[in-house]
Amino acid sequence: MSTAEPRPIAFFDMKAQQALIRAEIDAGIARILDHGRFIQGPEVDQIEAGLAAFAGAAHAVGVSSGTDALQIAMMAEGIGPGDAVFLPAFTYTATAEVPLVLGATPVFVDVEEGSFNIDLADLERRLALVQKEGRLRPRAVIGVDLYGLPADWPAIEALCAKHGMFALDDAAQAFGGALGNRRLGTHAHATALSFYPTKTLGCYGDGGAILTNDADRAELYRSLRTHGEGKTRYEVQRTGMNGRLDSIQAAILLAKLPLLEGELKSRARAAAWYEAALGGRVRTPKVPEGVSSAWGIYTILLPDAAARGRVQESMRAAGIPSAIYYPKPLHHQPAYAAAHAGGIAQADKSGPPPLPVSERLCHQVLSLPMHPYLTEEETRRVAAAVMAGL
Ligand SMILES: *Cc1c(COP(=O)(O)O)cnc(C)c1O
Repeated sequence: MSTAEPRPIAFFDMKAQQALIRAEIDAGIARILDHGRFIQGPEVDQIEAGLAAFAGAAHAVGVSSGTDALQIAMMAEGIGPGDAVFLPAFTYTATAEVPLVLGATPVFVDVEEGSFNIDLADLERRLALVQKEGRLRPRAVIGVDLYGLPADWPAIEALCAKHGMFALDDAAQAFGGALGNRRLGTHAHATALSFYPTKTLGCYGDGGAILTNDADRAELYRSLRTHGEGKTRYEVQRTGMNGRLDSIQAAILLAKLPLLEGELKSRARAAAWYEAALGGRVRTPKVPEGVSSAWGIYTILLPDAAARGRVQESMRAAGIPSAIYYPKPLHHQPAYAAAHAGGIAQADKSGPPPLPVSERLCHQVLSLPMHPYLTEEETRRVAAAVMAGL
């Protein structure tokens, strides 16, 4: 009599969810095969209405990916050469890629150790340096809600308002997160979402959306995602791109959106189980009063790289997946190092101030399995493997 092996623990679990909605997805795809409007079909309008309602935003514009959502939002502001775009050094590459693709200069800002999000004091310091040098125009701040935890949007918004800058929320990891009772989607001038399959709301391919309360911006986004079209189809009003969300991905999202509210609760429950098992033993993520994390990714902090290596090894030995988001701060990436060095020179040519927290976190962070279908027993097994490596 053998005891059955427990099912392997998934880092992200898209299969359990798919089993719940498979019939609906098959029917949704079949409908599209029948009507044949693969691009800009009725499913796109429907999901845009659903996303806007979920986030409490006036407008949602479906686009081809989270990266394109960021890019279209920046293109609409006319951001380009000579413009400084402030963003955290500790985030996914797409956040920094977009200003560079548009010819603007990313100015990397350090993050807070507690929240992993942009450090307002460091943001103000770098803004003052850029203003003093006078080479670049401060145009925008891209705040990232890393791992699902909303950044300090009231403070970012206030700073942007004071200096006439565009506030763009990269909420790719955080759809469903909230500050007070207001979900992400209306805290910045525009909010970029990604529907990459592993995000809190994911499709089965690439997809994204831009949320905003501003009708003029929403109209520009619709134009830009369709080659800058004007009022009629073959009138090209401005230089745009091919950035549309396709009907099949919209149909996947339509099947998944009704699950999201419950899945966010399940993610929070899994985080609470981790906290019960690991709190006090390792640095677990803390959510400030009045803030709701979307728990896109669950990340602990180990004292140093050696300790993290031991925990990774212990998890690997127990057959439990882990991941490092992100092993390198963006200003050290070969593609971005030159832009970083050129962003802030300083009178004594000492270059940009250091980014010590971003540099340290890269050696300390470790992400554990996180998805809505984790059981308490699974979180205990993960926690046991973590603690065995301490
Ligand atoms: C996933 C992600 C993106 C990019 O989204 P895609 O849909 O993959 O283009 C941008 N920013 C952050 C923080 C992300 O996690």
